[in-house]
Amino acid sequence: MKLFLLPFVFLLTVIVFAQEIKSPSEFLGYELGTQFTRQYEVADYYEYLAKTASDRVHLVEYGKTNERRPLLLAYISSAANMRNLESIRQEHIKSTTGESNASKAIVWLSYNVHGNESVSTEASMKTIYELLTNKSSYLENTVVIIDPCINPDGRARYVNWYNQYKNTPNNVDPNSKEHVEGWLSGRSNHYMFDLNRDWAWLTQVESQQRLKVYNKWLPHVHVDFHEQGVNSPYYFAPAAEPFHEVITDFQRDFQVTIGKNHAKYFDANGWLYFTKEVFDLFYPSYGDTYPTYNGAIGMTYEQGGSGRAGLGIKTRIGDTLTLKNRIAHHFTTGISTVEVAAKNVGKLNTEFKKFYKNKNFKYKSYVLNGNRGAINALENLLQKHEIDFGRAYNGTVKGFNYKTRKVSSMKTSEKTLVVSTNQTKGTLVKVLFEPHAKLSDSLTYDITAWSLPYAYGLDAIASENLIKKDESWLDGTEYGVVKPNAYAHVTKWNSMKDARFLAELLQEKIRVRYAETPFVVNGNPFNRGSLIITRGDNQNDKDFQKKLYKISNKHTKELVATSSGFVDSGKDFGSRYVQMVPKIKVAMLSGGPASTLRFGEIWHFFEQQLHYPLTVLDADYIKRIDLSEYDVLILPGGNYNNFFDEKMLKNVKGWVNKGGKLIAMGGAISGVSGEKGFSIKKKEIEKDSTVSTTVQIHKDIQRERVKDAITGAIFKTKVDNTHPLAFGYGNSYHTLKLGNSAYNFLDKGTVVYLEDGTVPVTGFAGSNAQEKVENTMIFGVENHGQGKVVYMVDNPLFRGFWENGKLFFANALFMVN
Ligand SMILES: [Zn+2]
Repeated sequence: MKLFLLPFVFLLTVIVFAQEIKSPSEFLGYELGTQFTRQYEVADYYEYLAKTASDRVHLVEYGKTNERRPLLLAYISSAANMRNLESIRQEHIKSTTGESNASKAIVWLSYNVHGNESVSTEASMKTIYELLTNKSSYLENTVVIIDPCINPDGRARYVNWYNQYKNTPNNVDPNSKEHVEGWLSGRSNHYMFDLNRDWAWLTQVESQQRLKVYNKWLPHVHVDFHEQGVNSPYYFAPAAEPFHEVITDFQRDFQVTIGKNHAKYFDANGWLYFTKEVFDLFYPSYGDTYPTYNGAIGMTYEQGGSGRAGLGIKTRIGDTLTLKNRIAHHFTTGISTVEVAAKNVGKLNTEFKKFYKNKNFKYKSYVLNGNRGAINALENLLQKHEIDFGRAYNGTVKGFNYKTRKVSSMKTSEKTLVVSTNQTKGTLVKVLFEPHAKLSDSLTYDITAWSLPYAYGLDAIASENLIKKDESWLDGTEYGVVKPNAYAHVTKWNSMKDARFLAELLQEKIRVRYAETPFVVNGNPFNRGSLIITRGDNQNDKDFQKKLYKISNKHTKELVATSSGFVDSGKDFGSRYVQMVPKIKVAMLSGGPASTLRFGEIWHFFEQQLHYPLTVLDADYIKRIDLSEYDVLILPGGNYNNFFDEKMLKNVKGWVNKGGKLIAMGGAISGVSGEKGFSIKKKEIEKDSTVSTTVQIHKDIQRERVKDAITGAIFKTKVDNTHPLAFGYGNSYHTLKLGNSAYNFLDKGTVVYLEDGTVPVTGFAGSNAQEKVENTMIFGVENHGQGKVVYMVDNPLFRGFWENGKLFFANALFMVN
């Protein structure tokens, strides 16, 4: 009797225990799916679970957003596993070195990276509850890591907006305001960055903090939960072509295994879905590709809905799509993913080890030379990815030269950066550095080129030999050596670091000059743009020496002290060719025609990269503002059709005429050009007006359109580096072209441009598009009265990762005068 009772009592306690956990609906006080749960309520529920099931749930705050919302991770597994969580983690990570007895599956579920795809966080609560109750058996050999919301600022923005505008009861008419978000939707983060384009570049605080934890775990499976348009059904793995060539057969196959398991449940419920279309695995900065290049089965799941759907919306076929439907689908795939992982623990562990075996890639080492600011910036990025690197020894290396695209040699020294592929993160190194990513299909969802040596503007060799490197290298340079009686301190101008240094000096009211022509002083050569800080200019500031010392140390700037303003060659420091850098007051247009992404990139640039103040003028009221209060007005890229009426254009032209500086980027250029605008002209291509003599069959039309497209390809441009817009650059620049917009050369002031032969260095550009961008301007400056208009056809601040473009923008602010 006793023997019979004991297991029964045990079972009873387990059931009672399970019942003690409140479901999301019970906890929140409303049925899940009938309201959008606010961020603090989501956090409350997770905290509640961590308290109530403390033996199986561990909640960690891994950081904070720009708007100070917590970033949370919930670790869940069986009580026995949770007691050994750290040793499970260590054993799993040992698999990357091949030696490991790891026997658990690690599944990481990321929800709501796009804030207005707001079902995901709701579904996460139902999913964790299910795993702790009905499906707790999956947790015996699986650790599940749940990020309930990658982008809390964006989601909070959406949920708050929806609650403000929603009808009561909610209205399913798609035209009602509750389905139409305004200029700033909830999709992006605080700085309007798309966090699902930031995994590789790590420009945003959310990504930076998440990746620190991600690297500690490197899960077997990673899912990024999204939503697509309201009329689309559900999308899950396997992904669409192109797949990057580093993706292994197992990674491909296992996507199919998971997809088929989802299909089983969707089929049983009669739910529609598609696979193998639209969402490819190529661009490395997504929540599916980045984990894939780190050994995971990385997947995107897309529910129909997003910011339009609200609590319910009429679809094209007349059905009503509700939040409850959307939760049910994401819940199903989430649970099904964990199920497949739990059933394939052995296979996942074996294959994960295989992924990290040295793959013997063609290029064994990437060897890079360049200015210290750019090298340091790249080293910073590599550190965040836990990619090992070192410095070279004196010698020469031979291999594929990125600039000439031929095999050649390059000198190396202790200033040369070396990154090799025979390391744990070798696959990621190949993906980020290789000179040319192989594209199996030109129809892709995103940019097709990103190679870091081009993005950072470095001279690079891809070597088929493993280059020896010194990893204990220390920078022996002395920074911030300020000589009290020096006539002037001089320093180079060639990277964002220098721009940050200048920005801080200006804000500390230190007067700085810049050289318009090259010069030599005390035997040291200096190029155009070099900064000259004289004692005479700053003699009224009694803290001048102290400030200069502090700021140059902070920015690790090397200063050369001179005892005289009389130069060996070039212009003396009192020359009219050595001008004062103006302390400019900058304004930027927001709202209306500006794209939120393009606006956000500039906003982030000022506040988080350059650290220089910016006034934001919204399209709603910019017409009432007296522009003469500002020295610079920036128009971010966007759609400017009909934004500038005659009166406003006249106003802006008048302001430039009196000395204002207008920076027009991307789509803004067409807004200020044309008959009544500035003189820049769009390049028109003569359309073939002859009657079509061939019938184009329907299925070829999409392929035909590709001929006009440039999908983020890298082009080598020419640079007039005697122009202030290009100070600090060499005579060529690799630009990332994102489309086929093309403008003719200016009469005067074309600074960066493409000539004939516009085959991209890497990435895809259709044949018509290549022809169109021949002989066109990339960056240029038009003089207008006493002012200037700076044109940026390509976007040097795109997603914040094209490091080598940023100095053009800094030049536009400080050097073009
Ligand atoms: Zn999305």
